[in-house]
Amino acid sequence: MFLKGKRALVTGSTSGIGLAIAKALRNEGADIILNGLGDPDEIAALQQQIGADFNGANLMDPAAIEAMFAEIGAIDILVNNAGMQHVAPVEEFPVEKWDAVIALNLTAAFHTTRLAVPGMKAKGWGRIINTASAHSLVASPFKSAYVATKHAMSGFTKTVALELAEFGVTANCISPGYVWTPLVENQIPDTMKARGLTREDVINEVLLAKQPTKTFVQPEEIGAMAVFLCRREAANINGANWSVDGGWTAE
Ligand code: NAD
Repeated sequence: MFLKGKRALVTGSTSGIGLAIAKALRNEGADIILNGLGDPDEIAALQQQIGADFNGANLMDPAAIEAMFAEIGAIDILVNNAGMQHVAPVEEFPVEKWDAVIALNLTAAFHTTRLAVPGMKAKGWGRIINTASAHSLVASPFKSAYVATKHAMSGFTKTVALELAEFGVTANCISPGYVWTPLVENQIPDTMKARGLTREDVINEVLLAKQPTKTFVQPEEIGAMAVFLCRREAANINGANWSVDGGWTAE
């Protein structure tokens, strides 16, 4: 319970990887603020199950992010995890989808970070953990907006890490390979269309083909990595991009 007394905001934690990170930090005693979209009854049940607060700010709206911080105040741990995908050839990529992916996957993290940093600096301790992706290091076709934002997150994280290094605050990326969550499941139909493949072929020849282990990463593995980055022993891990991708980006 080494995180007792620490407050953590995990964005996009009503589902998938963010939920697993929130649970893992909670298991170490952190007070959790969940964030994300979803059915209010299901979110209330999650809150009860984990013992967490919730703020439903839509992260595509900078004013909503400011209102969230006005409500929650200073936090010790910020996990920028909310994200979305859209799969389409670049010349057909819907302009509004491009804007949405940039707003959620990248710009939201700028706003949460700028609003969280003063409180962390004042306390002389903080952890900023950004869920990037294997797509922060390598590209795949038909994912131009997503790959652009994830590469950008790596650069943003390094910059913040340098700025905060002397204040007891670290900033790092965790870069998963494919994790079986709604984000991955929902991209299968568009990938089938873009590549002319069946569902099974997309899973085996597009998704798992990338991962030398031929298995999906488990959300809990990302949660465990986030916990480690909060430990005292991780104080000098700063500006790093931790791959958890079964070896995908080693090729
Ligand atoms: P998910 O779809 O299960 O969860 C996304 C979360 O973001 C949900 O809680 C959702 O409610 C929230 N969200 C969506 N739009 C929002 C908005 N406008 N405002 C606030 N919250 C919003 O996806 P996931 O797979 O758990 O993805 C989480 C992160 O991990 C993303 O940044 C994603 O890019 C990254 N990632 C996922 C994989 C994967 O294979 N699943 C791999 C690498 C990186």
